[in-house]
Amino acid sequence: MNKNKLIIAIDGHSSCGKSTLAKALSDYFSYKFIDTGAMYRAVTLYVIQYNLIDSENQINETELRKAFEQNLINIDFRFIDRKKISETFLNNVNIETEIRGVEVSQLVSPVAKIDFVREKLVEQQRKMGQSGGIVMDGRDIGTVVFPNADLKIFLTARPDVRAKRRYDELISKGMKVTYNEIFKNIEERDFIDSNRDEAPLRKADDAVLIDNSDITREEQLKIAVDLINGKINIK
Ligand code: C5P
Repeated sequence: MNKNKLIIAIDGHSSCGKSTLAKALSDYFSYKFIDTGAMYRAVTLYVIQYNLIDSENQINETELRKAFEQNLINIDFRFIDRKKISETFLNNVNIETEIRGVEVSQLVSPVAKIDFVREKLVEQQRKMGQSGGIVMDGRDIGTVVFPNADLKIFLTARPDVRAKRRYDELISKGMKVTYNEIFKNIEERDFIDSNRDEAPLRKADDAVLIDNSDITREEQLKIAVDLINGKINIK
């Protein structure tokens, strides 16, 4: 069977399991997986580390732009043999745990609104995916990064379901969070992501909508695998 080298785009609301589905699909088809949210989170961590934010949460865009121009923000994904997963690195340091915390989650959507941040990251994402065989998840993959993707999925779930899943996940990792702060953060990020000028979150016209509120991960994976198999030319 020729599995082709498809480009699969998965977009959707915050914390609805896009990366879980993307990762499962990439394992199933032996494709590469790119979590573009991790890239925006990495830039946000850089902003925090270098104090490019004031007490009123205003981002110092001039300095941030300079940092990009001087190639001071280098993000990549590296496979960790011991865990059998890829993790995110910023300037050669593993930042996977830090970028999932509340501090980064609260600042990431304002950072992701900045036009030159998006330009830089979209350029890198296109390079990573240009030869296909990739599952990429984010907010603008089917609309901006790969408008010609072979398959586009728009994933969503009810906000309370998403908040509960994210809360359980963070608690299981030992993080100190409350359900209410997670719920509020998800609502805020959805609002900012959907209403920004640059590449707002929206379902591409040709994306398949999946609401996973009441289905299992396995059922969700089967739906997506069937959709992809429908696109693969069997030779
Ligand atoms: O996917 P994740 O929830 O980790 O993404 C974190 C944030 O990064 C989103 O809330 C959004 O503001 C931003 N993002 C984006 N475009 C993408 C991926 C993520 O604006 N392609």
